Amino acid sequence: MMKQKLSNYINGEWIESKSITFLDVVNPADGTLLARVPAGSGDDVALAAEKASRAYQSWREVPATERIQYLFKMKQILEKNADEISEICTKESGKTFAESKAEIVRAVENIEVACGIPKLLQSEFSEDITKGIDEFVIRQPIGIGACIAPFNFPVMIAFWFMPYGVACGNTYIVKPSEKVPGTMTRIFELFEELKLPQGVLNMVHGGKETVDAILKHPDIPAISFVGSTRVAKYIYQTGVANGKRIQAQGGAKNPVVVMPDADPDTTVKIIADSAFGCAGQRCLAASLVMLVGSAAGTFTEKIVAGAAAKKTGNGLEPGVEMGPVITRESKDRINGLIKKGLDEGANLLLDGRDIKVPGFEKGNYIGPTILGNVNPGNDIYNTEVFGPVLCIVNVKTLDEAITLINKSRYGNSACIFTRSGAAARKFRHDTLAGNIGINIGIAAPMAFFPFSGWKESFFGDLHGQSNHAVEFYTQTKVVIERWHDEWTRKF
Ligand code: NAD
Repeated sequence: MMKQKLSNYINGEWIESKSITFLDVVNPADGTLLARVPAGSGDDVALAAEKASRAYQSWREVPATERIQYLFKMKQILEKNADEISEICTKESGKTFAESKAEIVRAVENIEVACGIPKLLQSEFSEDITKGIDEFVIRQPIGIGACIAPFNFPVMIAFWFMPYGVACGNTYIVKPSEKVPGTMTRIFELFEELKLPQGVLNMVHGGKETVDAILKHPDIPAISFVGSTRVAKYIYQTGVANGKRIQAQGGAKNPVVVMPDADPDTTVKIIADSAFGCAGQRCLAASLVMLVGSAAGTFTEKIVAGAAAKKTGNGLEPGVEMGPVITRESKDRINGLIKKGLDEGANLLLDGRDIKVPGFEKGNYIGPTILGNVNPGNDIYNTEVFGPVLCIVNVKTLDEAITLINKSRYGNSACIFTRSGAAARKFRHDTLAGNIGINIGIAAPMAFFPFSGWKESFFGDLHGQSNHAVEFYTQTKVVIERWHDEWTRKF
């Protein structure tokens, strides 16, 4: 059966891509073909930018209080259609239905925060900087914004940026991951009900060619990116060289430190959820557990047992807690990293490589896998696996753990489990990472906080979400006004 070729959404219309190549979109749970997506075309980006540019001239004049009326409806549409969107998201990305629903909640939270834009756009005012002269700042939109999203959150990530960009008076282009393009396509179909003015919100499909065209286009001044560190660095360097404002969130290797006094049952449960939720394909997933001192004796077996209890399968089946990884190549890469870890001397405490899911033999499944005795020199210690693999590292002290964490090239998040306020406080103060969790497994900031990230987990200055997104998608204008008494006295 011929599968549906996905179209771009430009200027309020579904428009066929000019791309001559199309890529297969495959369900990672069973290997079936879901759709075909354009590989990318600079012409598509040029058309979207032209229409978004035209729409910007009038959208920027719409008062913020009116712009947010569309966002209220956007929230309602996502909520009303959450089940349908989640099913598509699960089929494309492999995550469980519950995980898909959870990311819609996160998307909605960002829309809600962006609905506060009339307040968030308020600025400073100084009366009488000298007699009769006032000075103030106004925030104006920057033009066209674009976001380039990764595969692992087909819904949420565009909403870290787009609602703020649009609410601030910019027009916008969303570029979903070519691995999971159907979810955002369906969302855009549903958003037609918004009746946004044509050209305000556009979607262009594709991979590198589309991204490069966005990076080069002179009319797109602000680009938000989320993906691997290699590409994030490229986006940042190329975008900045082209004079653009860039925020680029990259990869991670997130450590979780367990102190001997941590509560065993909750800690183990939270670590298992953190490491194996979304099959380890989350930028905040725990991937290194550092057991401090006697915690090695208390926690190792419990962590293995907690992981072994997770049920792996098709995310649409009831009771499944962990789905497949995104592609066959990803599965092979992860299995290769596990093998390399074992070759380098790690102990195999739990092996998920040969897992079979009856009825879904063509799926890309890997069960929860745990390696013990992992050392900082090992490849598996340093490389982002982005799969359901947890490494256990034994350290003597909290200081040793912090020293190791601070040497990492990544700084997306770091978590500690302890009952000691002093240990927690030291950890949050000394650790070089952008999101810190204290007795939390996934340190994901709520929408009213910026989503931080340090070192090679982030390139740029202003992060996604909240007031950072507002600053990113606006430029400040300073006005100095003189009203002489002599001129105004006459009324
Ligand atoms: P990816 O870097 O392969 O792709 C991300 C986006 O970049 C996609 O839209 C893709 O089309 C585009 N792209 C890919 N290669 C490109 C190239 N050579 N030139 C230009 N554009 C290119 O990432 P992914 O595999 O889709 O996502 C997983 C990665 O994203 C992981 O490293 C994960 O840690 C990271 N991530 C980070 C965060 C965060 O908040 N820091 C959040 C989610 C995911």
